[in-house]
Amino acid sequence: MPKAFSPKNTRASSLAADMQEGKRVLSLSEPILGEAEKQALCAVIDSNWLTMGDRVIQFERAFADLHGAFDAVAVSSCTAGLHLCLQALGVGPGDEVLVPSLTFVATANAVLYAGASPVFVDIESERLPHISLEEAATRCTPRTKAAIVMHYGGYLVDMPAWRSFADKRGILLIEDAAHAPATGEVGRLSDASAFSFFTNKNMSTAEGGMVLAREKSVLDLVRRMRSHGMTTGTLDRHRGHAYSYDVTTLGYNYRMDELRAAVGAIQLKRLPEWNGRRRELSKDYRKKLAAALPEIEIPFTGEHQTASHLMPVLLPAGTNRAKVMTALREAGIQTSIHYPPVHLFSYYRNLIPAESLPNTEAFCSRELSLPLHPSLDEDDVTRVVTALKDAFSS
Ligand SMILES: *Cc1c(COP(=O)(O)O)cnc(C)c1O
Repeated sequence: MPKAFSPKNTRASSLAADMQEGKRVLSLSEPILGEAEKQALCAVIDSNWLTMGDRVIQFERAFADLHGAFDAVAVSSCTAGLHLCLQALGVGPGDEVLVPSLTFVATANAVLYAGASPVFVDIESERLPHISLEEAATRCTPRTKAAIVMHYGGYLVDMPAWRSFADKRGILLIEDAAHAPATGEVGRLSDASAFSFFTNKNMSTAEGGMVLAREKSVLDLVRRMRSHGMTTGTLDRHRGHAYSYDVTTLGYNYRMDELRAAVGAIQLKRLPEWNGRRRELSKDYRKKLAAALPEIEIPFTGEHQTASHLMPVLLPAGTNRAKVMTALREAGIQTSIHYPPVHLFSYYRNLIPAESLPNTEAFCSRELSLPLHPSLDEDDVTRVVTALKDAFSS
């Protein structure tokens, strides 16, 4: 049988089509899936129970344990999770929610789903691209009900400082933890947090998310809202524990299915090891970039607690970033920008006019994200740094 037909080589051969000068394409991110995931999916199919069964419960249990939480609720995405966090905490029409603009658009969208108004807050600085506490204080009004912080690139926001800010002002604190699963105290100091298992995150279920909360009553409400606001689950009814149900609140269909939960449970076991590998590769990038391209700045420090979700660098102001990205693409290296600021998207510009966030705008005009995922090795890092240097000297 030709090599390309064995399952293991299918992906290699599709990558081969994109090979440049005989070199493997270095993608920005890449999920790691294998035999264990395949077997787990087959087992779900053989069981003939496809959604909201024991595998979802087991995945929730394992995720809660890994984060030192009493419980967790699996959902269909982090976006759905953020919506449920806001809704279950009672954030709604008339309320304002402080959010970073340097984030994926879902953070702000979730506030709109809840009927509340996002209030964009600038980042601390280009070297510390987290939502700024000082700036947040100036954006507070009597209507401010909550703040959502986002652990940009996996680098943890100063949660103790945010907790005391929230307590002092009597507002709720929510974490968009899409970038930082299984890192430090993530999910422990906020009122609720949402995680993502989208394909490009540190672990994946293709689509999926998880919610943690400080209070059991909030998490119970999230669990009910995930499934139409119904008081009992499918499994309970199937097992005869409940023959009927009530609907006590407005709910949604934000459930996770058994297939995703089965994959998630396997991915979760490897998450700490993958995060560790990401941290090593990030440190290697820092070292090699500092030696080869001292004019390039790297946000945060090598000591910052992080899940190393992204490898962001700041090109010198005035660099033609599009040209650099094209040169890297031609060298078989994928790059991206994290993120175009949310407040500058046309939808948000129309909604919230005359917003100016100078640090966010400066950061986003210079930022470039380099390939970072556990399948890379130190030679790949060297290749990226060399290609970047070539792009600058050409
Ligand atoms: C990926 C991401 C989301 C959305 O996650 P989904 O699971 O795709 O809904 C939200 N916020 C941030 C910061 C993200 O990176």
